[in-house]
Amino acid sequence: MSYLVLARKWRPKYFEDVVGQDHVVRTLSHSLNNERLHHAYLFTGTRGVGKTTIARILAKALNCEQGVSSKPCGQCNACVEVDQGSYIDLIEVDAASKTKVEDTRALLDNVPYLPTSGRYKIYLFDEIHMLSGHSFNAFLKTLEEPPEHVKFLMATTDPQKLPVTVLSRCIQFNLRAMDNEEIVAQLEKILPDENVTFEPAAINAIARLSQGSMRDALSIVDQAISYTQGNLNEVAVRDMLGMLSHDFIYSILISIANRNAEELFQVVERMFERSVNIESALDDLLLKLHNLGLHKVAPNLVESRTDNVEQFRELAAVMTEEEIQLYYQIGLLGKRDLKLAPTARIGLEMTLLRMMAFHPGSQSDGKSADNSSSVSGKSNLNMTQGAQPQPKQAAALNQTGEIQSTEDWCHFASTAPNLKGMARQFANQVSFASREGNKIVLIAPPNASPSIMRPSNSETVQKVISEYIGQKIVLEVRQEATEIATPDEVAAKEHSETVNSAIERIKQEKIPKMLQQEFGAIPDPKSIQFPIDNPK
Ligand SMILES: [Zn+2]
Repeated sequence: MSYLVLARKWRPKYFEDVVGQDHVVRTLSHSLNNERLHHAYLFTGTRGVGKTTIARILAKALNCEQGVSSKPCGQCNACVEVDQGSYIDLIEVDAASKTKVEDTRALLDNVPYLPTSGRYKIYLFDEIHMLSGHSFNAFLKTLEEPPEHVKFLMATTDPQKLPVTVLSRCIQFNLRAMDNEEIVAQLEKILPDENVTFEPAAINAIARLSQGSMRDALSIVDQAISYTQGNLNEVAVRDMLGMLSHDFIYSILISIANRNAEELFQVVERMFERSVNIESALDDLLLKLHNLGLHKVAPNLVESRTDNVEQFRELAAVMTEEEIQLYYQIGLLGKRDLKLAPTARIGLEMTLLRMMAFHPGSQSDGKSADNSSSVSGKSNLNMTQGAQPQPKQAAALNQTGEIQSTEDWCHFASTAPNLKGMARQFANQVSFASREGNKIVLIAPPNASPSIMRPSNSETVQKVISEYIGQKIVLEVRQEATEIATPDEVAAKEHSETVNSAIERIKQEKIPKMLQQEFGAIPDPKSIQFPIDNPK
């Protein structure tokens, strides 16, 4: 007996065998079991998701000699012949090759005649969107008032090309692309039955490449069985598919993390010796980065479905969340621009170089913080950690313990060693108004909090000032509106000016400039910190 390709051999024969389209199967089964039948069904969805398969099962369910139900017997002539593709009352039309109106008219001429042996005469149009406008017009009349004994089943990958008049006369079912897990689960069921051994990573790779199409997945498996002589191991399968092995992806990311360009390009060289598909290599890289990103928030979940946990943990340990996000973004853009690159290899190399060039200098990795500016993964500028800047006036003030002016008051409020806790807060939230002899007048804002205005605070400040200037003074505190700035207000204004000036300087630097051009990144003012000694 000749070899039957897997996609045909494992094509579902009953609704319960259909994978991933529960919503469609449930609705169809319900209407069949209740004989609430429509005369035209449209199945839409991407290639290889089961549109014509479901249509054929429906044809069987409608014509089974045991009666209309969601569970055709599979034994009667009608069931057997539909399965074999020889049932006379199931007329399959490849609309792609019968686009002309003459073809459609010839078909429709036969519609009035009763079915030869079955209950219904069923027309199954595949790729119905390929019919010409005239064909649709010719078809529409029949679709509006079909004879009782006729059912139209239609399948298309492109429902938007159908006239609204046709769409509105059909019951439409949207079949979804299967996710990788569903395809993998199905392959895990099929392969042991076929006596094929496999590595999970190999069928994962196949599932990913088949992009939601079970038929494509099975075609690739057919090919892989020949290529690997029935032993689907990851290396051979990836080799056949022109996909990178995970070892390559790991080596690339480790080289980038270590900023080892030489090692990186040795890996790239080896990749090209194996003629890998560059787009799929970038996909692999993005997939790994996606998993690494997830790992930062849900490590157990990711590790449970990762093949090489040790390698994965190593990568997760050397890369910060910000780095992962940035590399992912760079990888996406690299993939988008691949077709514009002079060659695919150049496109890939430049993408990898960019990942290395934009290596964020986050402080958490302890590798790159220096005393100049550096760039974090969020495209924020992190300057070396340190204290907040002190007011400019304060820094330039006298050190002799004098209070004559607002500048002196700021200096006192921020540096007087015995000024602590609430008393210091009080000093920073009042304005210096005047000093005459041993009397100092301070002004508190009208909305000052009661805890700040407690007499104990002003008493402490009076005591500390007396020590500070070496002369007993009397403090008078008025609560009223004033234009004179408090030390807190001076500091806030100073800080904002310093930050703005830092942002302006940062924007002129090379890497931030590139980040701005490439990603529209702007410095985050909150992320800017200053060295202790040199705030400017
Ligand atoms: Zn039957």
